[in-house]
Formats: sequence, structure tokens, C-alpha cells
Amino acid sequence: MMDEQAGPAGPGDASGPPRWLEELTEKALQRRAPTRQEALAVLRSPAGHEAGPGGGPGEPWAPAELLDVVAGAARVRRRYFGRRVKLNYLVNMKSGLCGEDCGYCSQRRGSQTGVLTYNWLAADAVAAEAQRAAARGASRVCLVASGRGPTERDIERVAGAVGAIKSDLPDIEVCVCLGLLGPGQADRLKEAGADAYNHNLNTAGDNYAEICTTHTFEDRQATVREAAQAGLSPCSGVIMGLGETDDQLVDVAFSLRELEPASVPVNFLMPFPGTPMEGMAELSPERCLRALAMFRFVFPDVEVRMAGGREMHLRSLQPLALHVANSLFLGDYLTSEGAPSQVDLDMVADAGFVLEGWSGALPPADGPAELRPAIRRRGPGTVLPANT
Ligand code: SF4
Repeated sequence: MMDEQAGPAGPGDASGPPRWLEELTEKALQRRAPTRQEALAVLRSPAGHEAGPGGGPGEPWAPAELLDVVAGAARVRRRYFGRRVKLNYLVNMKSGLCGEDCGYCSQRRGSQTGVLTYNWLAADAVAAEAQRAAARGASRVCLVASGRGPTERDIERVAGAVGAIKSDLPDIEVCVCLGLLGPGQADRLKEAGADAYNHNLNTAGDNYAEICTTHTFEDRQATVREAAQAGLSPCSGVIMGLGETDDQLVDVAFSLRELEPASVPVNFLMPFPGTPMEGMAELSPERCLRALAMFRFVFPDVEVRMAGGREMHLRSLQPLALHVANSLFLGDYLTSEGAPSQVDLDMVADAGFVLEGWSGALPPADGPAELRPAIRRRGPGTVLPANT
């Protein structure tokens, strides 16, 4: 029989969060940036079952338990975003056949991944996608195309799609993601009615050559600046799991902060078979959650999105991550399938959050809720093996 009095408190069990984490939380509540050492401490605190790097609970860089980190980041998230979750929906306007060689990308030059390849969707098809997404609670639609950057004709096509969306849905935000921008292209997207431009930095400057040789980290920074100068809301984030160190993850977070993005997607590598990063498996759910918390402390009042790969890498910690991130993609990604939208809508509601820009009940379900228990027909009392 279990002795309820037994169970020695392990290090930190009774001591609450370490002082540095409380100070970091207070700083973020005042929109002040963390120090590099604080950002690293968020990433490096060990899981409960691992030996920790720091000293005991009273020492300066004592490890912080995961739930203490989440609780601190959640206070910051609540201060600036309340219980709201913003849903974004991706439309891949042109898929595959890219000439660039980004090692993480299923659409890269010579891709053997078997992903869909097609040329530009027509404006009315894009607008129809946006209508569906809006009916499911999305408040931003992201129009994406593969390639190094758009031609003038591509800008015209996308401008037409933006116009078609906005004529049906004037309140929906439209973000465009077309790669590196040439002179004047951001201005033309702005004139067409686009609200935002996405271009991720992806990884630290000193890791960039490891993931891509056909363009540079500086090229990417320049495009984010170009978009912001044109009045487009800058969206720029990362992909975790590209071989980066803790220091490099902090580096890219701080590089992003210099660009003053309005939203920061945190992607988690989906190692597509047929890409150079096939089989890379560096991420654990806890590391992903700590990284989201680190980004929240670096960007207290900026949209932080748990983006592509969240299902694969955060796994059962996704509802906990909603207490840190305030945004996610609904439905499918550019070349891979996401969770059924109702699963994510239920997750948002079950965790006590509400959809941004959506009043009243949740969007209508795709189908009837399945509330009937499944009668057990296996295991004891049957000839079939148990579900163990
Ligand atoms: S430029 Fe974009 S589409 Fe092309 S390989 Fe890189 S990430 Fe993929």
C-alpha cells in the first residue's frame, strides 16, 4: 500500500521557482529583454529525471523545473494576450520545384520527397481556401509560394489573390511569403492590400551555411527589413532541430528581436525522407516547450506561434504549449498534412482558450462529436491480446 506520507522531496520540489526565473518573468511583464544567460538558463534546465547543470535551489543558476518555466511564460502570455489563440491558415499557391537548396525543405532543388508539385493557383481558388479557413476560425491567411523570390508577374498574381480574398473577407489578415523580395515588390504587395510578409531567419547566422548555400542569412534579414519599411507587418521566426546549439538558438532569437517582428513562428523540423535532413531527430517535447518559453521571454508582447511540426515534436505537450504560445496554424501545412482542424479547435476549447476574432461558440464541427464509448472486445475475457 502506498504511504502518502512517504516520498522525500527532491531538490527543488519544495523550493518553488529559482530566483532568476522569477526575475526574468518580472522583466518580461515589463517588456524588458532577457539577458543571454537568462535565455540559456530557460533552455538548459534539465528534465526532472536528469542531472542538472547548476547548483542547488538557492544558487544563482539553479535549474528550473519545466512547469515553473511554463508558469512564468504563461503569466507573460496572459498579460499581453489573455486567453486568446490566433489561428493562421496556410495556402500553398505554388508547390515544389524550387531552385534553392535549403536542406530542411521538401520543395528544394532536386527534391525526391514526392510532395505535390503544381504551378500558381488561380485567385478565385485561393479566395475559396480563405473562405473555408475563415469559417473554421482563422483570422489570418498566409499565401506562400516556393522559390527564391517572386518575379514581377508573380507579384501581380499574388496581388490579384489578395484582392480576391479582401473583397470577400475585408477583415481577414493576409500575410504573403514569397521568398527574397526585389526592389519595390514589398510596396506593391502593400498597395494590393497585403497586411504582413513572412520570411523566417530559420537559424543562427553562423549556422546558416550548414542549411543552405544558395542564399545567406543576411539576404533574409534584408528582406524582413524591406517588408517592414513598406509597412507590411513583419513575420519572421525559426526552425528548430537544424543542428543548432543552445547558443545558436539564443543567437537567432536575439537577431530576430533586432528586426522587431510582429509575429514569430517557431517551427520544428519535419525531416522529410529525400532531404539532406532526413532522419534528424534532435528534438524532445520538453526541449520544444522550453524553446517556446524562451521565445516568449524574448518577445513578451509579440505573437509567438507554435508552427509546423508541433504535432510531431510537442506531441502530448501541445495543450501546455498553448499557455506559452498564442498562435498556431490550423489544418495542413505546405506539403504535409496537419491534425484534423476539429482536433485543434477542441484542444483550444478544452484548455480554456478562445479564438481571436471569433465571438460566441466555436466554429461548427466538421462532423458529429464522437462521444460513444467503444465497447472493449479484446484482452481478458476474449481470445484477443490486450491493448497493453
Ligand atoms: S527557398 Fe523556400 S521553397 Fe525554396 S528550398 Fe528554400 S525554403 Fe524551400
